[in-house]
Amino acid sequence: MTGLYLHIPFCARKCPYCDFYSVRFDRRLVSDYTDALVRNIRHLADTKTDIDTIYFGGGTPSLLCSSQVESILSAAAASFSLHDPEITLEANPCTVDVQKLREYRSAGVNRLSFGVQSANDDELSRLGRLHNFERAEKAVFDAAAAGFDNISCDIMLGTAGQTLQSLGSSADALCALPIKHISAYMLKIEKGTPYDCDEMRKASADDELMSEMYLQTVGRLASAGFVQYEISNFAKPGFESRHNLKYWTGESYIGLGASAHSFFGGKRYACPNDVNAFVSSDVQRYITTDESPDALEEYLMLGLRLTKGVSLERLQKLGADIGALSQKVALFSQHRLMQSGGGRFSLTPKGFLLSNSIISELLGVI
Ligand code: SF4
Repeated sequence: MTGLYLHIPFCARKCPYCDFYSVRFDRRLVSDYTDALVRNIRHLADTKTDIDTIYFGGGTPSLLCSSQVESILSAAAASFSLHDPEITLEANPCTVDVQKLREYRSAGVNRLSFGVQSANDDELSRLGRLHNFERAEKAVFDAAAAGFDNISCDIMLGTAGQTLQSLGSSADALCALPIKHISAYMLKIEKGTPYDCDEMRKASADDELMSEMYLQTVGRLASAGFVQYEISNFAKPGFESRHNLKYWTGESYIGLGASAHSFFGGKRYACPNDVNAFVSSDVQRYITTDESPDALEEYLMLGLRLTKGVSLERLQKLGADIGALSQKVALFSQHRLMQSGGGRFSLTPKGFLLSNSIISELLGVI
């Protein structure tokens, strides 16, 4: 089955740490953009693609009004074969109220992902977020009242001024909400953002503190029943993000919208970061970013993001040198960075912290 990703590149205000492609919200442009998404979906109708997940990502998809979401989802229902789809919409707590959330639910959205980031208002203000925690809590309770039983919240680790204690309190506060999923991201200072300065670098967690924060969060969320299934993702059993799992398990997805990426027919594509070009084209233009991705490398790199890791049998089928790989895995296991069993191997939480260098060592011997 294929996933459908819809990029909504509009934000009310740019957060100083963010380097995702987005432009300032403009009512007229959002309306034209919605029409362009609908046009592109209809253009794919002949493919009769089997779709089981739809994901509105951003940017800030919750800046769309419910009628815009409804017209996009109606076009998808008319153009694809939908199979009990998980339909997620990323939401900013300041952009929703219970009425709007009810309308999203009626339009077919069945999963919400809120960018909460912290339960500490000073940290939120340093992140340049528009909401305080009270507002975020209200948005989550409003979503539950509107009929959403599959709600996710993001928490950010290592932000300016954050301590182990304040992070622990934020994690506890999120766990107390009626949610089923938490994404815990480590702040990365991206080049060229306002956060890319000495002051912010000093105020944010260094590598050692970040490691402690990560391991503390993994433990805290586990105690509250949120099972880790990917480096940054934790869920109550049965509430893993079906759409995001496609990225790590090599399933296909079609991305529509400015800066959206796709993996389809064994190739990777990207749509340029240009809202105006997307709106003015009849059909979105793609750049092929990878003509023939290496199946073995991709399986190893993406599979090791998951706590269930990778299967030796599958690696062997893809042509890996299992002997050399097993030696490396044994070495990393001695340092408690990896674990193996049942014909699979995976990274431990400590190993996730070093995943880039471990994976590049493994890639060196396959
Ligand atoms: S709301 Fe999200 S996408 Fe928009 S600027 Fe902030 S972090 Fe980036």
